[in-house]
Amino acid sequence: MRALVTGSAGFLGSHMVDALLGEGHHVIGVDNLLTGNYRNFAHLRNEPRFEFAEQDITRPFDPGPVDLVFNMASPASPADYLTYGIETLMVGSVGVRNSLEIAKKCGARFLHCSTSECYGDPLEHPQLETYWGNVNPIGPRSVYDESKRFAEALVMAYHRYERVNTRLVRIFNTYGPRLQANDGRVISNFLRQALDGEDLTIYGDGSQTRSFCYVTDQIEGQLRLMSSEEHTPVNIGNPEEFTILECAQAVLAITGSKSKLAYEPLPEDDPKQRRPDITKAREVLGWEPKIPLTEGLRLTIPWFRDEAARTSSVTAGPDGEEAA
Ligand code: UDP
Repeated sequence: MRALVTGSAGFLGSHMVDALLGEGHHVIGVDNLLTGNYRNFAHLRNEPRFEFAEQDITRPFDPGPVDLVFNMASPASPADYLTYGIETLMVGSVGVRNSLEIAKKCGARFLHCSTSECYGDPLEHPQLETYWGNVNPIGPRSVYDESKRFAEALVMAYHRYERVNTRLVRIFNTYGPRLQANDGRVISNFLRQALDGEDLTIYGDGSQTRSFCYVTDQIEGQLRLMSSEEHTPVNIGNPEEFTILECAQAVLAITGSKSKLAYEPLPEDDPKQRRPDITKAREVLGWEPKIPLTEGLRLTIPWFRDEAARTSSVTAGPDGEEAA
């Protein structure tokens, strides 16, 4: 089949491209490289089943006939979407519409990457797909949260009014190789800091929680959703929940780093807790994550060591394998 992946130079998009090529598909990747990076698909330079076009999806485009559309384009880390607030709102609205129009024209299956941020700072815990969320519509994070909520409404409208064969995945915190080392996310920061011997920055008192999904588990869940006929949102994430302090301890243990903790102010509207209820994914997709945090961190360390070596001549810190 021919698959279109928007945001194909990003963290998740590039892993989806690899997975689709692995399944034998022909893949067309588009990305405007605002937050994506050529390095994430440099290994596909000689792959005849992969085509890349530098394309901002907020402008109409024509990838030719496609059977599958994975709409994965958006700034996604808090640092990126706070820098590119208007771009984030536009890609989640106009960009999603352009991708939906392609799916409509081609009669393609469509999967849109939504987010646990649709639940905002959740008052129900863990989060079920039926929870409507607790989102500040005008706060700093609203550029991301509301673009993603609008996108869900748009996708459901194309499903209801235009009969497009759509799916919505609500992605919970996901990590792995190809995260930008400087994207400001907690796993990126902690791994980079631990390997560089810098203090690990804990925002607030570190009691807020997140649940971390390794990237291959995430991609597998999304592929299963694309193969299903489930049109309402499905949470894909790892239900194992950690406080940010526990996450820091896990990173220190696995890297063997002697870094200390440094406390910094909590960002505005930072969700206090987040954990997916994945009953629906288990029942409808037969999916659940396989890789626990310590294993996923071990698999991610080599990427951060390579990034550190690439960006500076300073020797990277302790070796994850030694500590394992
Ligand atoms: N966080 C932290 N130190 C960091 C980066 C993040 O304590 O260096 C916290 C952040 O305040 C949040 C959690 O870790 O509570 C997850 O942040 P991230 O930016 O990874 O994503 P979010 O889940 O907030 O979208």
